[in-house]
Amino acid sequence: MFTRPNSAPTANVNVERCPAVIVQRLGAGYPSDRDAIHDINFVVHPGERVSIIGPNGAGKSTLFKAIAGLVAHHTGEISIHGYDCRSSHSMVGYVPQYEDIDWHFPVTVNDVVMMGRVRKIGMFRWPVRRDYQEVERRLEQVGMAQFRQRQIGELSGGQKRRVFIARALAQETDVLLLDEPFSGVDASAEQEILATLDVLRAAGVTVLLATHDLGMATSQFDKLMLLKRTIIAYGQPEEVFTPQNLRAAYGGRIGVFHQGDEVIILADEHGHGD
Ligand code: ADP
Repeated sequence: MFTRPNSAPTANVNVERCPAVIVQRLGAGYPSDRDAIHDINFVVHPGERVSIIGPNGAGKSTLFKAIAGLVAHHTGEISIHGYDCRSSHSMVGYVPQYEDIDWHFPVTVNDVVMMGRVRKIGMFRWPVRRDYQEVERRLEQVGMAQFRQRQIGELSGGQKRRVFIARALAQETDVLLLDEPFSGVDASAEQEILATLDVLRAAGVTVLLATHDLGMATSQFDKLMLLKRTIIAYGQPEEVFTPQNLRAAYGGRIGVFHQGDEVIILADEHGHGD
């Protein structure tokens, strides 16, 4: 599924046994906030499902944009399957936040997924049979093939997100970055997206997903990353959700309640993370 770029992998790396993502000493930001994220180090293994949590402004989107090549990083390295991500940002599929997408743009589901093929097709060329086959395969993978001729604006929230997952996969990557796909969706859409994530897990796709839903992060993911400009904790939920770590990320704006075996974590997300 994963297509290797033409360039050589990062020196001294055995590509066959490489982690899916390695981020080392990463620093990235904006002219007005140069160090939005700094000193970020982590490894994600192939097929792992990792959730990234942290308050508003913690740098979750910036981290994704840096990995996807949409924000330049001024320090550190990012490698995908052992290849420096600068040699080909198309090695990762990035699904932006819902509100960053223009849903009124008059395109069909098929067209949206074909857009994921743009780099493969090349500028000023037409799609060929392989591109159409790949689009169909990805629509089937996310359970949206029967909607291929539907206008994107006419879909439900869960369906729209699944189409964008298909678009990211259509660039022939097996590493996905999903920025808050559960934000603003109802319970049934949430279940649809989770079912799609399970299909991707079975296909060995590596998923990094930013969310504000701490309960879901605990129950549905292999690992959690708690971020506040830098990584506060990364690992299994029980290692990450300690009172010290949660206080470091959310300050006093978080409560942990025990109800029998269940742990309920409530974060006040209205404040800014700084
Ligand atoms: P999160 O996704 O965790 O809410 P972001 O990555 O959006 O956090 O933001 C991290 C920091 O970068 C914040 O201080 C935010 O104000 C700043 N930031 C985000 N996007 C931009 C931008 N386009 N220009 C300038 N600063 C930005």
